Amino acid sequence: MKTSTIVAATVGTLAVASIGYALYFDSKRRNDPEFRRKLKKERKRASKVMKEEEQKQATRTAKSVDEALASINEAEFPTSMEEREKFCMEQLSTGEALFTQGPEGFDMAAICFYKALKVYPAPAELVMVYQKTIPPEVFTLVMGMLSADVQKKQEKYYTVFPPKEMNVKVDELPEGVTAEGKKVVRRGLIASKDFAVGETIYSEAPLVSSLEPSLEGNEFCHYCLKQITEEASKVPCTSCTKVVFCSEACSTPAMAEFHGVLCTKDSEDADTPERGLYDYSKEANYKYPGMIAKFLVRMVHEDSLNSSEEYNPFDHIERLRFLEVRPSAAEEKEIQLLKLALGSKIPGIEEFINEDRYLTLKGKLLYNAYGVTTSLDSSRSVEPSPEQLRSVHDSPVVGAGFYKVTSYMSHSCDPNTKIVFQEHNNTLSVVATKEVKAGEELHSGFIDQKNGTLSTEQRRQELFQHYRFKCMCSLCEASE
Ligand SMILES: [Zn+2]
Ligand SMILES: [Zn+2]
Ligand SMILES: [Zn+2]
Repeated sequence: MKTSTIVAATVGTLAVASIGYALYFDSKRRNDPEFRRKLKKERKRASKVMKEEEQKQATRTAKSVDEALASINEAEFPTSMEEREKFCMEQLSTGEALFTQGPEGFDMAAICFYKALKVYPAPAELVMVYQKTIPPEVFTLVMGMLSADVQKKQEKYYTVFPPKEMNVKVDELPEGVTAEGKKVVRRGLIASKDFAVGETIYSEAPLVSSLEPSLEGNEFCHYCLKQITEEASKVPCTSCTKVVFCSEACSTPAMAEFHGVLCTKDSEDADTPERGLYDYSKEANYKYPGMIAKFLVRMVHEDSLNSSEEYNPFDHIERLRFLEVRPSAAEEKEIQLLKLALGSKIPGIEEFINEDRYLTLKGKLLYNAYGVTTSLDSSRSVEPSPEQLRSVHDSPVVGAGFYKVTSYMSHSCDPNTKIVFQEHNNTLSVVATKEVKAGEELHSGFIDQKNGTLSTEQRRQELFQHYRFKCMCSLCEASE
């Protein structure tokens, strides 16, 4: 079967955003014997609906993709699952009725099929159905609309992200030329106003974070990673003995965003599927498999909220750099444990977590995650996990955070900012360590330079080993 790039793009964006809906549609189809009969009835009703649609759309008969897209009012897409299903069926049957009338109905049919695609839980599959069932002229128009839509969303991304109030923007910067003379660009984080030394440029909460496995369960908050110094304020999970929170303000969102799904519930049954992932992380001393689990659950959670956010967590991390991870027995096991822990609760997730996607997620964490430090005194020994982190601190790392904006910051051996955790939790702040002018690129240090005792050669070697680039920062270039 011919799979267009649009189908591929759709799988990456739209389909991902809609795993929640897949549950409803699929169970409906399987469990409802009335479903097929209703489908037929819908078709009969189509001619009537079509006339109404025709009147509604009479003034906006699309002549081109742009016109067709412009005729669609996003606000008319329903939000609840029930309404979305109804809307989808209406658009499909109306579209079908329209194209059977001949070429004069093609434009409007395409609009209907496009609308159905926008709310259907598995758009890539629907595209393949379209390809086999609708006239090529209509199909071309639908794909044209989809492609323009996806492109518009992609192009708009960096105009709305990062939010203006963070005082930074993401821009393309030149990074030399290839052997063939082709210009190479990379994305970096640019200050959008001036900052004096010591000023906080912005603060950012992580998309997902995790404690070092050895610190989990007693003294540190499972949500914000803060050290709990007062026993009285400690909030244990009500269903397990594996995690604690520093306050209700942390336990409530944690339960909603991920722990409600990932809780090992050991007070009820010692052998829950969630327990497998937990025990593995603890034994192997790995936090990234758990962070990936949290990320996936949060992604589905945000989707089910019909949040007003235009871009879901997957849209955000899709654009970030990642390290190539070669699959080993460990990853194979982690994928199995993840499927086991989530499979029964998030329909469609087992297909979604394939090897390729898991390795990419892991590679994103390895490249972008920052070490989180809190007020923990440096005499306390923490057994750090062997997983890679961007970290330059003397104080012990208590966990890792994955930050949407700060991930864009490039490394320099002589950076103009430092990363601090002012609130002693996982909220990261970027503070200017040099005077920064508007338009200047911001840099952080990815590695511990041992108080400046590392030679250029040693720094470059370490950076190449962990991040796969040859450092060309001003300090390194000056000593060449
Ligand atoms: Zn907390
Ligand atoms: Zn729990
Ligand atoms: Zn350097």
